[in-house]
Amino acid sequence: MAHTQEVAGSSPAPTTCLFSIGQIQMKFEDGIKLDFEDVLIRPKRSTLSSRSGVNIEKVYNYLHASVQEAVVPIVAANMDTVGTMAMAEKLGPEGMQTCLHKYYNVAELVDFFTEKPRLGTFFTIGVKQDDVDKLLTVDDMLPEMDKCGLGIHKICIDVANGYQKVFVDHVKRCREFFPDAVIMAGNVCTPEMVSELLISGGADIVKIGIGPGSVCTTRMVTGCGYPQLSAIIECADAAHGLNGHICADGGCRMPGDVVKAFAAGADFVMLGGMLAGTDECEGDWEYEGWINTHIGRVQIGTSLNPDKKKSLKFYGMSSEDAMEAHNGGVGTYRTSEGKSESVAYKGSVMDVIQEITGGLRSACAYVGARSLKDFPKCATFIRTNRVHY
Ligand code: 5GP
Repeated sequence: MAHTQEVAGSSPAPTTCLFSIGQIQMKFEDGIKLDFEDVLIRPKRSTLSSRSGVNIEKVYNYLHASVQEAVVPIVAANMDTVGTMAMAEKLGPEGMQTCLHKYYNVAELVDFFTEKPRLGTFFTIGVKQDDVDKLLTVDDMLPEMDKCGLGIHKICIDVANGYQKVFVDHVKRCREFFPDAVIMAGNVCTPEMVSELLISGGADIVKIGIGPGSVCTTRMVTGCGYPQLSAIIECADAAHGLNGHICADGGCRMPGDVVKAFAAGADFVMLGGMLAGTDECEGDWEYEGWINTHIGRVQIGTSLNPDKKKSLKFYGMSSEDAMEAHNGGVGTYRTSEGKSESVAYKGSVMDVIQEITGGLRSACAYVGARSLKDFPKCATFIRTNRVHY
């Protein structure tokens, strides 16, 4: 069901207008677009006596996949540091989701999906034929999913720019191969493309976010993008009108941002940077005093104290570091749209998750929502005139 998200003080539906600058007319979209730091959620009188009573599990029915499930809709991003099998192992039993990164080989994937049911794990592919071939190969080697719960139940089709027609065709082709799987596809940031991916592509969930990621430089390099809170509000409205879902991807730096994404209407929220630096990540760790040295992904040196992690090298999947690791460098026709940073060690991912779920429960209590399902209906944003962090 479509719902309208309230933003106190902001203008309603966007309109494109012609704006004259001297003799020249330029197209401008009217109405301000907002990001997480532009708003807060207004506390309201509530009959809830305790935040512990708030239910943050939600039941999902999908537009195309014949699945009904109850999940906690937090998703680990399909980045090679964060979308790991160890992450899926940890988040799965909590009812949370992981989009595996694309760089596991066939044998690793077959082992992983054969070991036990992986209902919360997305098999991630891009748009290359090799990706589809790998998916089909792994799928062929697995038991049929209906019979024992094993197999590939969820597919994430990820591309930096989901606006190309070939992408919609690609998603449609994957839907033909996997009529019963939950398919998440993106990224886009505007309602018309959400509708196209849901209806023409056959996606169940559309991934929303162009430019908000913590290690993304798309806005700086290309000048393109869309403030993430507005993108979520507008895309959720389009998706819900079609019984589809969206996954807000990127830009959450702290639990309050995850809360705002759900308040804005996100059905799922995907996290990269917030989960980076936890024990469940893969990659180049720096240890107290010593560093592991690598050539590509092959380690050639050892650390003195492997139990004392200090920081993790976390990089965007379009960064020079990622292209160096996976594509043999940056191609001549493209430029990097990601950066690298060092993130401090955070311990178990469950410590981070507990902060997020604690924030969510508390936010529901502040606005009188008994469950995450009710939260967007209960939430009213207020626009703030300064950064409040
Ligand atoms: P975060 O939670 O770290 O703010 O955002 C994670 C998301 O950033 C990912 O799921 C992905 O959509 C996006 N992302 C990851 N790497 C890159 C990159 O190199 N360039 C761009 N433009 N986006 C990236």
